[in-house]
Amino acid sequence: MPFYQYKCPICKNSYVYEAPIASGPPSTPPECSICEVRTLRNYQFFVKNSFREHYNAATGTYVNNRTQLLDDLKKASDDASEYTGMTHDFQPREWGDLKPDSYDEFLDAKASGE
Ligand SMILES: [Zn+2]
Repeated sequence: MPFYQYKCPICKNSYVYEAPIASGPPSTPPECSICEVRTLRNYQFFVKNSFREHYNAATGTYVNNRTQLLDDLKKASDDASEYTGMTHDFQPREWGDLKPDSYDEFLDAKASGE
């Protein structure tokens, strides 16, 4: 099922809804539970890239598939947790997590009606 993500223009909280593809996104954007203002749709598109072998600086290993990357990140997390005495949980980043710096400015401008 597709996910529909909304973001509060004030506090930047994200809200994610999963709905059957036939019903589509909610007819009206949900309100932020904190600010009680209408949230804005946050469009994201994911394209799954083939995994290229690369040296991963976080794990210090060469990885050639996602399973190996996750295993190596878990081992690196465990090693870092043991070394520092603080819990570490390294996670891979997806391109969809990365937004241009101007995105929040865009939401602010839209919220203020510019
Ligand atoms: Zn809010």
